[in-house]
Amino acid sequence: MENKRVRLRFAPSPTGGLHMGGVRTALFSYLFAKKHHGDFILRIEDTDQTRYVKGAEEYIIEALKWCGIAPNEGVGFGDGPHAPYRQSERKELGIYARYAQQLIDGGHAYYAFDTSEELDAMRKRLEAAKVVAPQYNSVSRQNMRNSLTLSEDEVKKLMDTGTPYVVRLKVPRNEEIRFHDIIRGWVVVNSTQVDDKVLLKSDGMPTYHLAHIVDDIEMEISHSVRGEEWLPSAPSHVLIYRYLGLEDKMPLLAHLPLILKPDGNGKLSKRDKSGIPMFPLNWYDENTKETYVGYRETGFFPEAFVNMLGMLGWNPGTPQEIFSLEELTEAFSFERVNKSGAKFDPEKTKWFNQQYLRKKSDSELAELFKPILEEHLKGNQQARTRSPDYIEGVCKLVKEKSHFVSEFWEAGKYFFIAPANYDEKVISKKWNENSKTVFTKLIEEFNSLSSWDATTIHQAIVDTETKTTSKVDLQLLRVLTSGVAAGPSIHDMLALMGKEEIVKRLNAALEILSRAYGTKS
Ligand code: GLU
Repeated sequence: MENKRVRLRFAPSPTGGLHMGGVRTALFSYLFAKKHHGDFILRIEDTDQTRYVKGAEEYIIEALKWCGIAPNEGVGFGDGPHAPYRQSERKELGIYARYAQQLIDGGHAYYAFDTSEELDAMRKRLEAAKVVAPQYNSVSRQNMRNSLTLSEDEVKKLMDTGTPYVVRLKVPRNEEIRFHDIIRGWVVVNSTQVDDKVLLKSDGMPTYHLAHIVDDIEMEISHSVRGEEWLPSAPSHVLIYRYLGLEDKMPLLAHLPLILKPDGNGKLSKRDKSGIPMFPLNWYDENTKETYVGYRETGFFPEAFVNMLGMLGWNPGTPQEIFSLEELTEAFSFERVNKSGAKFDPEKTKWFNQQYLRKKSDSELAELFKPILEEHLKGNQQARTRSPDYIEGVCKLVKEKSHFVSEFWEAGKYFFIAPANYDEKVISKKWNENSKTVFTKLIEEFNSLSSWDATTIHQAIVDTETKTTSKVDLQLLRVLTSGVAAGPSIHDMLALMGKEEIVKRLNAALEILSRAYGTKS
């Protein structure tokens, strides 16, 4: 093991959109491979033709690219020395049948001819006998139609007449199976709990259990990282390596903890209702006609998504939470991956995006905001001309309270369109007979300013207060100029919009409000 090159594979089945749990598996494999200057490989496990979904493979490739964790070998990434990387194509190499034959020849696998009706009947029999987990195993196989119970002649006859059969692993009775998992430590299972897994199906296709082992051996995989749901079948896999005489080729195993629902009750489902996506990119499910919204389309930055995923079940052992991909690579180890499930936290997920949003320069944000802005302002005659500096200025002011660039429009549309109405609550509470006098004076002070910035604006407000011996209510000022009750610093906001625009808006507001509220002028 010592001198083995570090080679990790991500081996999804193209059965649908790649759930974020799958992306995390890819990420952890990527991080470990990169940290150890090894290879990260994409293998497509498409042996189950009944579950194959068109477009899933392309989706997986695009998702890995978007996350910035591109494999350096494998489907969609230029292949490599072990091509092909799709199991359906690898079957043509005859490797799966060859390894299965080796197991049969060694007496560790056998042919089984049972029909699905016979398998059902077996299950019912075992259930009736109160067997807790009915399975095809060292005991039940004795009553089934397989090459262990039938004579050689019968087996030959069945095969010659084309009777469908599968190849099963012959699991011994009452033997201890021990293996080491980098995350969980030593795992010990009694073989009585292990079923005789199907290795080759009746269509000649290998099952996952056989195929991934053959490929991990052939592709010289050093570490096999996968979800916790595979832990129960790991003992069968250990036996297969043993019976092939290739235990020394067995990759180190790492079973990642589940991602749990926000309340910690059960596995996170792809239909989670927290409002945060479960998929990296939009995924349209042809069967159910459902669209699952993606992180990308929701406006998450890939760096934020990856950072959040990295912290889902792993921790650096320090309070640091913000990690670039390079920093994650540097800090990552399987020893710091938790054994127990990782609770998904929707609010924290948004928080990560906010941190990355704040780190972006105003000009980067403006670039991202422009298309959204264009969309909203299309055909709007009243919209103000928008210089690049102005848009950057808006981004600077609205970014503090936003999690996504897509929120900038809602947060700052008044920077582009004068308000058509004014926050009712603030007006009814704060507008009084004195307001018009005070704000008329403020307009005068504003008009007399020769320079327009946060400081001179502040001074004009102070001067107005002195001259009218009244307070200039800043929230009212905000509502009269923006229509809304809250936003960025009022002085900065007025400064950005410009004197001419502010005076125009104040005049319009005074006219509308004094008419509506009958205030004497
Ligand atoms: N094809 C399996 C899956 O999609 C891969 C498991 C593994 O990585 O071994 O879950």
